[in-house]
Amino acid sequence: MTINRRHLLQALAAAPVAAATLPAAANASAQASAIASAPSAFHRFKIGEATVTALLDGHLPLGTQLIPDFDADKASSALKGTLYQFKDSSLQVPVNGYLVEHGGTYTLVDTGGTPQMSPALGGLHSALAAAGVTPEQISTVVMTHLHPDHTGGLLLPDGSAAFANAELVVSEVEWGFWHDDAILAGVPKGSQGFFHAARMSVAPYKDRLKLIKGEAEAAPGLTAVPLPGHTPGHTGFMLDGGSESLLIWGDLVHMTALQFTYPDWTITFDTDAQQTATTRRQMMDRAVVDNLLVTGMHLDFPGLGQVKRAGEGYRYQAAPWQFGQ
Ligand SMILES: [Zn+2]
Repeated sequence: MTINRRHLLQALAAAPVAAATLPAAANASAQASAIASAPSAFHRFKIGEATVTALLDGHLPLGTQLIPDFDADKASSALKGTLYQFKDSSLQVPVNGYLVEHGGTYTLVDTGGTPQMSPALGGLHSALAAAGVTPEQISTVVMTHLHPDHTGGLLLPDGSAAFANAELVVSEVEWGFWHDDAILAGVPKGSQGFFHAARMSVAPYKDRLKLIKGEAEAAPGLTAVPLPGHTPGHTGFMLDGGSESLLIWGDLVHMTALQFTYPDWTITFDTDAQQTATTRRQMMDRAVVDNLLVTGMHLDFPGLGQVKRAGEGYRYQAAPWQFGQ
């Protein structure tokens, strides 16, 4: 796979959350205040025999300046008739993690961010507690990619592993990218924080790490679906619940309000913009044809729905709130 370094550098240079977001720099008071302000929201639903709990970590403002192809008229036409609103030229997007209970085992897919990255992040652990599950009960933590709004919850404020008994599962491509010293050396100094943050957040798990390739089984009931572009090893996971399936697609979409309508609108965090757009269209086409249930880390919380075709793009059809088990 060709890694487009120019785009990577652009992404890192434009990132509003850079070196200062290192998880190991966490301190107890910041953590405590963030937990106090973060909602403890969760939503549990069944996928066949499996149970999925959407955990809200918090939210992030994503500014329109992050979209190179942004067009104000097109954006207002996408938002027309909806309740989405820009606030200071930004859309507020959620950061979600997903707990999967399958055959008596707990797997967590992504871990949210940290209050150091944004004061409105870092609520995943309190959401997990509110859902009645302890970190020790989780036997596998599966990562869609190693950006800090996904890896932040891997560590406790003292830098140790937050999931004492969990195996960590990461795509081999993703792991290799963030641990490549040659790539790191080519990144501007002020933007190397993404690499340091990725490395630090996974370091305590090195002795219980599973690297996966292609469409491998990642955890009980979860099969990897490579979705490269946003990062080189960006990966979704298909949950097989027997009678029903759910695709947990990671960051295939960052802005529900805009990127279904304009699937070619990438953001500066995308390592390879062209590949990101191609992957998004391919995956959305497959979701339409296969009538897939989908969820994702930045889809409107709790993020359970389907993709429908609309015009030259798509639209998101959210499922109603799921009551009971
Ligand atoms: Zn993300």
